[in-house]
Amino acid sequence: MNIEEFRAESHRMADRIADYFELVSSYPVKSQVQPGEILDALPQQPPAVSESMDSIMADFERIIMPGITHWQSPSFFAYFPANSSYPSVLAEMLTSALAQQGMIWETSPAATELEDRVMEWLKQIFGLPETWTGVIQDTASASTLAALLTARERATDWNVNDNGFAPEPGLRIYCSLETHSSIEKAAKIAGYGKNNLIKVAVKEDGSMDAGALEKAIGDDLHAGLKPVCVVGTLGTTGTTANDPLEEIGAICQKFNLWFHVDAAYGGTALMLPEMRHLTAGLKFADSYVFNPHKWMFTNFDCSAYFVRDTEALTRTFSILPEYLRTATRGQVKDYRDWGVALGRRFRALKLWFVIRSFGVEGLREKVRKHLDLARWLSETIENTEGFELLAPVNYSLVCFRYRPEAIADEEKLNQINQQLLQKVNQTGRLYITHTKIAGKYTLRLVIAQTYVERHHVEAAWSLIRKTASRLSI
Ligand SMILES: *Cc1c(COP(=O)(O)O)cnc(C)c1O
Repeated sequence: MNIEEFRAESHRMADRIADYFELVSSYPVKSQVQPGEILDALPQQPPAVSESMDSIMADFERIIMPGITHWQSPSFFAYFPANSSYPSVLAEMLTSALAQQGMIWETSPAATELEDRVMEWLKQIFGLPETWTGVIQDTASASTLAALLTARERATDWNVNDNGFAPEPGLRIYCSLETHSSIEKAAKIAGYGKNNLIKVAVKEDGSMDAGALEKAIGDDLHAGLKPVCVVGTLGTTGTTANDPLEEIGAICQKFNLWFHVDAAYGGTALMLPEMRHLTAGLKFADSYVFNPHKWMFTNFDCSAYFVRDTEALTRTFSILPEYLRTATRGQVKDYRDWGVALGRRFRALKLWFVIRSFGVEGLREKVRKHLDLARWLSETIENTEGFELLAPVNYSLVCFRYRPEAIADEEKLNQINQQLLQKVNQTGRLYITHTKIAGKYTLRLVIAQTYVERHHVEAAWSLIRKTASRLSI
């Protein structure tokens, strides 16, 4: 491909992308292909000679598109969203064209300093503590890993980095039973070991029982183990429960433990003044993560990680081989020392585009709309015979199930709801997922897609009701 061809093809591509956004609701939201179908349609041998864009794009439409689950459909209500938006996609075009490698300041001063600035903006938008410093990580999983590694190093006076674990007693991490699986993964990778991750009991609303946490810490101290870190969550993945951060924070202070807060999805809601009460306990936190790539209209991947003590973070990760020595070291941020990866994409650009194009008020308006729609749906469900809510609606996730009057058997109800989920997803007109709450098969419907409107939620609800009424039970 030469530059003239590139120019012509990129114009066509821009139109194709705009067409996609216009037509996205007409595709089945959840891909309907069977395992292996895409793989089998792809030639086993790579092409020996150049192929035209026409031929590549024809195969893209024919082979790839059927295997796409449309995360950007306004009828995507599954998991938590991985949103994009028009300004974010435009920024991603530039990001890929510039193809920056921002491992140190000198390799891309703009990537470093824009990141610095937008992270400061986020602190203002979300009312986060002024003393914090932010850095973009690829995912919440990587952010939490960074937290656990830093906590490990601080607790051992940077000894494990140098000497491994050998002389240390069991270092203990605490989270709740409802904490995201990334905490367990980080505990394994960071060398604490899964068995040193204590999953504290939750209350009926799914939030961590702070009394049980304090008891677990006391028991461990008594047994000669070494409590190191507590992970609290704002907006658990199953049901968006909020852990009592103030109580947990006070416990961390009392025992001198690292306090990491995972607000991967829920954190976005803190931009609303009416949700600010949730930030109360953050003053105790040592580190905090939320994902603009979930609910803040910014393409995956973009995870905002904040720490109180940057020195502890960079001391944990810093390396200095000869080939990375620069004259500016010490005067600038070299983000390679702020996380696991050396190489870094220019992720700040899309966040900058999104914040500027929406404006802070525009962002708030969208998030508020999603919360209002979730409230509307939950009230509707509450007033509909044969359905019930299964968890408080703290953000824009609604947890519910079909519960026809005649059926009381829990096993049977679980089967019916599993069937209902499969049937509605098979229609391709929406996509929802499930969780289990106290053994109950629970339907999860998240209203957070960038371009979702009330009529999409109404259509989804109407389809769920109609499908439920037609189940043969
Ligand atoms: C989605 C989610 C994560 C994982 O996010 P990644 O960015 O995909 O690693 C972690 N914690 C919570 C609470 C989540 O909802």
